[in-house]
Amino acid sequence: MPVDTNKKKRQLKTPSLRQLGISLLILLSSLLALKYIIATLTPKEKEVLYSDFIEQVERGQVVEALVSPNQIRYVLKPAPGSNPKSKQEVLVTNPVAVDLALPEILRHFHVKFSGPPPSQNNWIGVLLSWVVPPLIFLALWGWFLNQGGNSPAALTVGKSKARIYSEGTTGVKFEDVAGVEEAKAELQEIVDFLKNAQKYTRLGAKIPKGVLLAGPPGTGKTMLAKAIAGESGVPFFSISGSEFIELFVGVGAARVRDLFEQAKKQAPCIVFIDELDALGKSRGSSAPGSGSNDEREQTLNQLLTEMDGFDANTGVIIIAATNRPGVLDAALRRPGRFDRQVVVDRPDKIGREAILKVHVKNVKLADDVDLSKVAVRTPGFAGADLANLVNEAALLAARSDREQVTMVDFNEAQERVVTGLERRSRVLNDLEKNTVAYHEVGHALVGALMPGAGKVEKISVVPRGVGALGYTLLLPEEDRFLMIEDEIRGRIATLLGGRSAEEIVFGKVSTGAVDDIQKVTDLADRSVTLYGMSAEMGPVAFERIQQDFLDGFSNLRRPVSPKIAEDIDRQVKQIVDGAHEIAKAILIKNRELLDETATALIQKEILEGAELRERLNRAEAPAQLDEWLRTGKLT
Ligand code: ADP
Ligand code: ZN
Repeated sequence: MPVDTNKKKRQLKTPSLRQLGISLLILLSSLLALKYIIATLTPKEKEVLYSDFIEQVERGQVVEALVSPNQIRYVLKPAPGSNPKSKQEVLVTNPVAVDLALPEILRHFHVKFSGPPPSQNNWIGVLLSWVVPPLIFLALWGWFLNQGGNSPAALTVGKSKARIYSEGTTGVKFEDVAGVEEAKAELQEIVDFLKNAQKYTRLGAKIPKGVLLAGPPGTGKTMLAKAIAGESGVPFFSISGSEFIELFVGVGAARVRDLFEQAKKQAPCIVFIDELDALGKSRGSSAPGSGSNDEREQTLNQLLTEMDGFDANTGVIIIAATNRPGVLDAALRRPGRFDRQVVVDRPDKIGREAILKVHVKNVKLADDVDLSKVAVRTPGFAGADLANLVNEAALLAARSDREQVTMVDFNEAQERVVTGLERRSRVLNDLEKNTVAYHEVGHALVGALMPGAGKVEKISVVPRGVGALGYTLLLPEEDRFLMIEDEIRGRIATLLGGRSAEEIVFGKVSTGAVDDIQKVTDLADRSVTLYGMSAEMGPVAFERIQQDFLDGFSNLRRPVSPKIAEDIDRQVKQIVDGAHEIAKAILIKNRELLDETATALIQKEILEGAELRERLNRAEAPAQLDEWLRTGKLT
């Protein structure tokens, strides 16, 4: 989620939880009032004690009685001299419940009596308490679903929850969003239109109504939308797709209607819908019987209707963001809807440096800080990660009472973001420490000889994060967008280096390689079923990919024959086995270096810089390595 610094933002007719509470309170208090009115309208009886009642019975003053377990209602004979028709009703509220003798007594004194009637309320009471409240509720419901305009704030469930920025606009400018130059260029046109609509409408051009920003989380989609509003000085409505979906069917659609009504009044303006996929998942793609379907579909249909319903040049521009463009309903992409798609991808090295520059504006930097180096060390970081990195570095510097943020802070912050906090409090016993040290040095030595694995920057046996007992920090020397097959092999072997070292040194293995093995298997499987890199299987995709921007791919195995499934498994195993063999061969050839480096690591806990480089440079490649990298086969 974006961090909003705009304090002038205000809630506009949004039904917060509080307001919903107020509506309920009003409802409840009206019911209570009703009950009170009923109570005052029904005649009051005199209340007496049970003993008094018995006394009156014995004196022969009681004509008839209604006896029920918790109350007795009875009628007294008219007092002598008064109107014989004015019978007096009396009530005993807490009779002695188990006075079994009561019927006997009553019979003896000729009092007519019976048990309680089916209901002790009169029919009006019954009607009011059972029928009227639901009716009121339903009436209110229908009423505020159909509300436009000016309803009291307490009754705004069907209102959109969109936030609007009050001082005209967002104040965000394009210069605040860095590293996404193509996207900015594409969106500039919309700014021009909002600023100067005439130029376009004069020639009969139609500006797109809807723009879809697609990209991984934290890459600046929200910021870009705000910047469009900021640059053109128009109001900005923002709402998340998930906020449309509520428990009750019909609310979402009502909110969409209301959102567009508000937006049209404020045109020209920007309406930003975050997480469009929450709303616009392709119909029929979710599991049957999942309850919220109807509601989502209704809401989506309403959105489509609204988008079709207004003229392109009214000046309302809908910008939606998603990190899963693959799952969106095709209807959303039709002309006149979200027909423009702008990809906002993770920044490259130059982009990362530009983003870092934006975020260090208010940070005191030491002279040794080189942001281009920080950018090199942070492949795969999105804008939000970089903002977080700068903040972590500043926090670290503050914690050690430094006047300025130094490069050391940036490096520590980067490791922290990647691998989690150091956990020096977790104490490993000697055997564990030994195992972890050999495991990590195993990764480092194999990695040092492999192409594409990156440079080994650091080895550590200080536990970090949730699971890591030690770690080897490999940093790519440049951003990579393609992996060549020998590099995939190299990565697999590097990942297996840890486990291989345990086998060679201790003759038995630990659970410490669980993560490595998972990655190895995934990578080998993908190279066979997705990348078509197995000569035996050929360039056939055995998996269907659904591209999204979350974590690579979500895959679906195509239906294959049992024979093919077996072949795939065998190929995957062959790749992994070959890499395992080569990793072991490397470590056996460099056994002395392995022991030496592991010992140093146990002593110092962290190896890095020149010392580490000097050691790793001494690693020698076994004879089969070149051929294995080329062919994937060991002879
Ligand atoms: P998204 O909407 O893509 O998930 P946001 O726009 O909400 O990402 O970004 C979250 C935060 O990350 C922003 O408030 C900003 O501080 C930072 N950020 C993300 N991308 C960029 C960028 N390209 N340039 C500068 N800051 C960025
Ligand atoms: Zn490992």
